[in-house]
Amino acid sequence: MITVRTRFAPSPTGLLHIGNARAAFYSALYAKQANGVFILRIEDTDLARSDTQYVDSLQEDLHWLGIHWQEGLGVDGQHGPYWQSQRHAIYLHYYELLVQKNLTYPCFCSEEELALERKLQLSRGHAPRYRGTCRSLSAAEIEQRLAKGLKPTLRFRVPAQEEIQFIDLIKGPQKFNSADIGDFIIRRADGTASFMFCNAIDDALMLVSQVLRGEDHLANTPRQLMIMRALGLQQPQYGHLAMITGDDGTPLSKRHGSYSLSDLRTKGYLPLAITNYLGRLGHGYESLQLLSFEALARDFNVNKISRSAAHFDLNQLLHWQKMAVSALDGTALWKWLGPVIQKQVPEKMQDKFVEAVKPNICFPEDAVKWAAILFHHRLHFSAEDIQILRQAGEQFFVEAEQAVESYGTDFKNILNEIKKALNLSGKNLYMPLRIALTGQVGGPELAQVADLLGPERMRERFSRAFHIASGKEDAQTL
Ligand code: GLU
Repeated sequence: MITVRTRFAPSPTGLLHIGNARAAFYSALYAKQANGVFILRIEDTDLARSDTQYVDSLQEDLHWLGIHWQEGLGVDGQHGPYWQSQRHAIYLHYYELLVQKNLTYPCFCSEEELALERKLQLSRGHAPRYRGTCRSLSAAEIEQRLAKGLKPTLRFRVPAQEEIQFIDLIKGPQKFNSADIGDFIIRRADGTASFMFCNAIDDALMLVSQVLRGEDHLANTPRQLMIMRALGLQQPQYGHLAMITGDDGTPLSKRHGSYSLSDLRTKGYLPLAITNYLGRLGHGYESLQLLSFEALARDFNVNKISRSAAHFDLNQLLHWQKMAVSALDGTALWKWLGPVIQKQVPEKMQDKFVEAVKPNICFPEDAVKWAAILFHHRLHFSAEDIQILRQAGEQFFVEAEQAVESYGTDFKNILNEIKKALNLSGKNLYMPLRIALTGQVGGPELAQVADLLGPERMRERFSRAFHIASGKEDAQTL
């Protein structure tokens, strides 16, 4: 049986964002599902744009997401090196082979000339395509130009009338005519390998069996297949993922907000929230549960990847974030909350605090708010809060304070006392208590709030509510 070998091949020119994280994730799930190998390869031949800081951050991001590779950067394997900048000798060999087959030629056209050509073609409504200016230069003409010190690129000679077909794993059968494809650059003027070339060579040499990547690469695929076929190399199957769009239907970009993995992590998103969201961003899962990487891999099916654009829905991501938060145990939650909270919450209250706020928070900053309310702040009341306290009336808080005298923080008894004394129930009973104790209309269970506040602070807060209800505290100071 052929081993499934998938890969993620980022160019380290920026931070990992939701779009390429999804390609990486699906490739990893594909390999895992088939008990195969997932490879990480760094496509850094464009030295001017590549930066090793991005290699470090993307490795960190992938590990954080729980995506691990069995071959590639830092792991090694039989097909390295896994930095393209270290594979120059390999590429030279394959250039040689193509030169021998007369499938290449040097091109001396300048950037400016090419840009002008493209502009002209576009203005005439044609798709830009190299016209083949240097295709038929004689040996003498080439010599002449080299003698002038001109540095040529190397182009692949695209065969005249050839149909390039392949079955895309996601989009189905694809057909391209070579007549629509201009001769393309496989080596830059500075001698480095172009993306089109090294990406194809490496997928073939690394025995990649399936490539999952963004549909922005679809037009590259026939070119890359031509290179592999010309060299008699093994070709992977390709699957092109439809793009991710923002609310306005355009491809997700910086304009829609920052969706780099490191920003999401800094904001407090949990890795399981991201992976569960990514897993469903253009791929169907029957389960509505929060799934582990293994479970997501088990039910991953390339046939369940949608052909149409996936709409990035922040509410969905927040839904998975809530699920991921509620799946954390107390210790993990405490750690995730971070040092700010850890300083604000008295040590002996940690467990109770975590349990109380867990259903009410999405991010650590939400817990900061609750820590301030429960342990530090003089409460701030809105006009509506004040109205509720006044409607409840002075007697309500007299009873409440007395109940705390009698029962401490035993909330059930406190409630019963007030209920009995004033014949109140439901919202009329709960809401004034909640507002008086927290200054909020929602939040943790009141019994837990009481426990965290302690009798002293409860009495203080009821006494203040009494003053507000009686109109003694000036509304301006509230
Ligand atoms: N280095 C390319 C990129 O980051 C890889 C494309 C591919 O997956 O083939 O877009």
